[in-house]
Amino acid sequence: MNFIETRGNDATHPAEVTFSQAILSPIASFGGLYVPKSLPDLGEDFLNKHLNSNYKELAKDMLSRFEIDIAPEVIDSALALYDDFDDAKNPVPVVKVNTNTFVSELYHGPTRAFKDMALQPFGIVLSSIAQAKNENYLILAATSGDTGPAALETFKNRANVQVACLYPDGGTSDVQRLQMVTEDAKNLKVIGIKGDFDDAQNALKRLLASASFKSELKTKHISLSAANSVNFGRIIFQIIYHIHSYLELVRQDEVKMGEKVYLNVPSGNFGNALGGYYAMKMGLPVEKIVIASNENNVLTKLINDGKYDLRDSSVIPTTSPAMDILKSSNVERILYDMFGAARTKELMSALEEDNNYALSAPELESIQNIFSADFCNGDEGKKYIKDTFENSQYLMDPHTATCFKAQATCSDKNIKSIIYSTAEWTKFSPVIANALTGEEDAEDITALKSISKVASLPIPDMINGLFDKEITQNTIIEKEDIEKAILAFL
Ligand SMILES: *Cc1c(COP(=O)(O)O)cnc(C)c1O
Repeated sequence: MNFIETRGNDATHPAEVTFSQAILSPIASFGGLYVPKSLPDLGEDFLNKHLNSNYKELAKDMLSRFEIDIAPEVIDSALALYDDFDDAKNPVPVVKVNTNTFVSELYHGPTRAFKDMALQPFGIVLSSIAQAKNENYLILAATSGDTGPAALETFKNRANVQVACLYPDGGTSDVQRLQMVTEDAKNLKVIGIKGDFDDAQNALKRLLASASFKSELKTKHISLSAANSVNFGRIIFQIIYHIHSYLELVRQDEVKMGEKVYLNVPSGNFGNALGGYYAMKMGLPVEKIVIASNENNVLTKLINDGKYDLRDSSVIPTTSPAMDILKSSNVERILYDMFGAARTKELMSALEEDNNYALSAPELESIQNIFSADFCNGDEGKKYIKDTFENSQYLMDPHTATCFKAQATCSDKNIKSIIYSTAEWTKFSPVIANALTGEEDAEDITALKSISKVASLPIPDMINGLFDKEITQNTIIEKEDIEKAILAFL
């Protein structure tokens, strides 16, 4: 199946591309994105067929319905990485918290956050495309904490790929920083910058658009790509776990096949929620997709009022930093799917030029037929963490906690919710320790130990080990020097 463009064609890009082309150059005409030309219709037959399949069998069949230009052996070795998750038989456990609440845990991979769900297989797929073309790629990543470790982990020692990963020095948790600066492989460069996440992200965008940087790379026979979440190579792997989680509820005898559920997603760049939307369109029985946000509540306002307005907004730092985002990139794919390319181009240009757009009343109604939304502030989130732990002995991270608020306010019907948990407690331990015990400003290692004691949970080895590992990446520079540092590494 081929991929087409969300903002129409500008006559300098091909109007249709293959999956591999969409992965290697993810930006389409007019700054748009690639989307599948059509979605496979899976229907109840597919769900019945896979009622007793394991995760990889389900994934393989779903991917095959997309008819992408990736060899089956490559898909097999990409999916084999799920064997290294905590439980090879079930990389995504779905845990009952109370009668209507089930948590789908997406964090059982090597870096303990849900970015592994897509980036693990994506690393193999991208490296194999590069090898087949006999080309070398530089992958740029800018991270506020979870994408960086997951991207480094997946591309470590892979052929034909080098990674330069930018993070704001002092802007991530200790665990997240250690996950990056202890990575030791010749093809990885980790760069701390004196600035915040926006500075890192802006530097990345500048480099991706810079002709002089690209021609400098060309002399070294290197092409440029990015591993950010608009890449469809990541999105495709984020459809699978929504189907898997539903089938888990059927297997656990909690829903009958065909019975509708809520999907409740803690959202930032909207990749996770988009995967749920595609799964629903492909036939998954979903009542509504509930979008949970933190104080950076642009998605709540879009879905409730039809307005995307950034004119008076700046990013608010919160206790759920992976969702501290104002321009939520994958919303564009929803706009395209519902309103077509011409309207998407109009809305996205308005957002880029005027920092603002408004949907018409019928457009808003189409959005609200599928989505509902609410946001949760830091104090409310901590209360959900504490109460859920005390009442149900279930420990969750601050991103997951935002979904509990949205569930309380958005679930009009008495049906089951699948809440997606995007990070393990170990990644955001100071906030969780504060929620459980009241201790303030603890360092990660102190907070990890106190949660471990209160909740009687062991600290996983891969987290504990970080504190004794040698720091191999110690570049910390001014943001003006990023290009120089990357070229020196290559
Ligand atoms: C990336 C991330 C999110 C947001 O996911 P999107 O797909 O960007 O909406 C939520 N929680 C955690 C912990 C994350 O790392």
